[in-house]
Amino acid sequence: EMAMRMVLPDEAATVRLAEDIAIKLRVGDVVALHGDLGAGKTTFARALIRAVAGDPALEVPSPTFTIVQTYAARLPIAHFDLYRLGSADELEEIGFDEAVSESVVLVEWPERAEGRLPADRLDIVLDLYEDGRVASLSGGGDWAKRLDRTEAL
Ligand code: ADP
Ligand code: MG
Repeated sequence: EMAMRMVLPDEAATVRLAEDIAIKLRVGDVVALHGDLGAGKTTFARALIRAVAGDPALEVPSPTFTIVQTYAARLPIAHFDLYRLGSADELEEIGFDEAVSESVVLVEWPERAEGRLPADRLDIVLDLYEDGRVASLSGGGDWAKRLDRTEAL
């Protein structure tokens, strides 16, 4: 278990963090994005997906209403927003486990999954901080090693 915090003074800093993490990802990774409405979860996910796709103009809508959007990029990505999930039992219907086995999975509102996320995920908590945000990263499995070169605060 590792933990680090970084200040993200503006949206560009959120995008850079997402790009740094994007290059480390592989199929099976789960990145849980915690934070209130407006914290920057979708901003982070959008930048990460664009980085993996190598397309800075790729349209990445918020999956609030569809619950999941998938991308057939260099690495397949499934972007979930569980805000409107009725209960954790619905994860099966929406193909969550399959998505984990065949893609990189990004999850907004991960608390709605009620502990059904894999333990070796990367957790990123986004909070308001001054005019920007602060990101708190923690990860099980080998995430400590993989995030080694990201500057800690
Ligand atoms: P969420 O998905 O968490 O509800 P969004 O990503 O949809 O949040 O919206 C977050 C808002 O915060 C966007 O307007 C975005 O421009 C802004 N934002 C994202 N990161 C930062 C940051 N580091 N500093 C200031 N504003 C940010
Ligand atoms: Mg969102």
